Amino acid sequence: MIGSTRYPHVFSPLDLGTTRLKNRILMGSMHTGLEEAPDGFARMAEYFAERARGGVGMIITGGIAPNLEAGVGGKLSTAAEAAQHRLITSAVHAADAEVKICLQILHTGALAGTPACVAPSAVKSRIGRYTPNELDHAGIEKQIADFAQCAALAQDAGYDGVEIIGSAGYLISTFLVEKTNLRTDCWGGSWDKRMRFAVEVVKRVRAAVGPRFIVIFRIAAMDMLDGGLAWDEVVSLAQAVQAAGATIISTHFCWHEAPVPTIATMVPRAAFAQVTGRLRKHLGVPVITSNRINMPAVAESVLARGDADLVSMARPMLADPELVNKAAHGRDDEINTCIACNQACLDHVFARRTASCLLNPRACHETELEYLPAARTKRVAVVGAGMAGLSCATVLASRGHQVDLFEAAAELGGQFVMASRIPGKEEFRETLRYFRRRVEVTGVRLHLGQRATAAALAAGGYDEVVLATGVVPRDPRIPGQEHPMVRSYVDVLLHGAPVGKRVAVVGAGGIGFDVAAFLVHTPGDHGPDLPAWLRTWGVTDPALARGGLATPQPPPAARQVYLLQRKASRPGAGLGKTTGWIHRAALKAAKVEQLAGLAYEGIDDRGLTIRLGKDREKSRLLEVDSVVLCTGQASQRELVAPLQAAGLMVHVIGGADVAVELDAKRAIEQGCRLAAAL
Ligand code: NAP
Ligand code: SF4
Repeated sequence: MIGSTRYPHVFSPLDLGTTRLKNRILMGSMHTGLEEAPDGFARMAEYFAERARGGVGMIITGGIAPNLEAGVGGKLSTAAEAAQHRLITSAVHAADAEVKICLQILHTGALAGTPACVAPSAVKSRIGRYTPNELDHAGIEKQIADFAQCAALAQDAGYDGVEIIGSAGYLISTFLVEKTNLRTDCWGGSWDKRMRFAVEVVKRVRAAVGPRFIVIFRIAAMDMLDGGLAWDEVVSLAQAVQAAGATIISTHFCWHEAPVPTIATMVPRAAFAQVTGRLRKHLGVPVITSNRINMPAVAESVLARGDADLVSMARPMLADPELVNKAAHGRDDEINTCIACNQACLDHVFARRTASCLLNPRACHETELEYLPAARTKRVAVVGAGMAGLSCATVLASRGHQVDLFEAAAELGGQFVMASRIPGKEEFRETLRYFRRRVEVTGVRLHLGQRATAAALAAGGYDEVVLATGVVPRDPRIPGQEHPMVRSYVDVLLHGAPVGKRVAVVGAGGIGFDVAAFLVHTPGDHGPDLPAWLRTWGVTDPALARGGLATPQPPPAARQVYLLQRKASRPGAGLGKTTGWIHRAALKAAKVEQLAGLAYEGIDDRGLTIRLGKDREKSRLLEVDSVVLCTGQASQRELVAPLQAAGLMVHVIGGADVAVELDAKRAIEQGCRLAAAL
């Protein structure tokens, strides 16, 4: 196994005393929405079994509630519910008897989203829907008993352990923090009393499951809250939980309401692992770290530095269930690397849709989206090597079809080439690398720099033609837009067109936001540079400030930028639920002036004149040197009619199919589903 020499720390087993993990990679907990779906258990069984076959050492399920008030979709508080979970544990152990699977017990407390939600005190969370009901002493005892009962039922259901989540703003963590625990009885007040609930939960869970069952406790090593935990409190909590019977301490960073991004694309890889390393020095049990660890080499360096005993990867296992096996066999270049976009995983979960992965639409759909060997080999031409064309071509070829992939540009990737140039989106280069390699592995014949014509395709003898020809920028028809100061986002991002110091970005969709971020950024001022990134977002040494929070110190903006839209709504309102706030905060910090509810009057040597006000009655000149058009796209589909006229079977996917709301998630899924069906 090549991986064990390249990644000796990743592939060394971990002895837990009572049992052994075969390697140091665990699949972290990720709620999928399958927990509450009617056919969810059968689907979860296959979803987890596929990851077990993929080589991971241990799996943690999505969060499961110990009682009704805990507020998560899936619940485990009865023997009948435990019987359903057997489907999952049997499938995972049948896939690989060495793989361990633990059930995450999640009590969301004040974030439960129901009027029945409970907490130590009636303090509403900034992101909660309801003010929670304050628990009385009997209520607290009931919650603890429910945690213990849930753990015992998990054991009956065949799990190897449980993970208790004691962070993120959920029930246990609200007992710890002074501003959410106003109690003056034996469950609040001094630190020892605020910590008591967490410790009691672990003690009673341990008593319920006996000495051999794995009990993981997840702690916020840095909660990033104003008035959050001091470092000595974090250390003493971890030590107390260890003494109470935890087998493993898992570290987590921030509460959901914290003002710092901790898992988005722009967070540098393994940004917080060193905090885990500092905590680990105070403990005798193994410690897990997490957050933005998406490749085996990153995991190896975290483990080699001694920052953790185990590395948790949740979203990377959605993107590529075979990640660990690929690392083990020296096939890292074949890993479909999670780009931390959240678009199909967390954004789906928060919208109460089944989670999946933008890059891997099979994630959580393993039982219905299958790439089976083709019954009859066909010759297929795929036109366009953006995300839709690449996913379609590679899945088709993996099924045994003969595929020619034509791309007019000199490199593959389409819109992702531009996205990869945005500061903080460097991860998108991994997707380009993945597809370059995938094209080779599957045997797709790639024709770069070749614009396919209808005549050549008609003469090619293809059984099917897939048009994934993408989009062209929409013409906004603004008076004066032929002025030399005007550029399109393609000129700027793809061709490096020069841009002045004062810029108006016309259009505030996803691309307008990206272009504004590109323009305010001075190359080298942050991104992979961790200390600079931490300063920008106000993260400091947790021993110096409670929660590790300091005053943000963003770097000065490289340009003065205006970001404009005609709609009166808040710019960026359509961005992803879990990432939109980060883009808005970053542009605010760079002093980008965002203007909505306007009309464009014209562009001339003085700059861009806009009209504002209820009836667009007020004129305002933006004295800018450059105007960048980010006004959406139109489909490129001129090949459709001549190919259909020539009698060819034509399929149109991606932006060429629908340009409005063009996005990579739909493009990739459409490509994969078509390829699975042909
Ligand atoms: P978009 O989201 O449709 O935004 C187009 C912008 O142009 C809007 O602000 C629109 O606002 C404006 N516009 C449209 N027609 C116009 C006209 N005739 N004159 C002047 N302004 C006009 O398109 P996009 O920004 O190109 O993004 C495309 C897709 O890429 C998005 O849907 C998204 O899925 C994806 N994407 C997402 C992200 C992200 O989430 N971070 C980043 C990049 C790309 P008004 O009509 O109100 O002026
Ligand atoms: Fe990662 Fe994005 Fe896939 Fe989620 S949707 S697993 S963040 S690549």
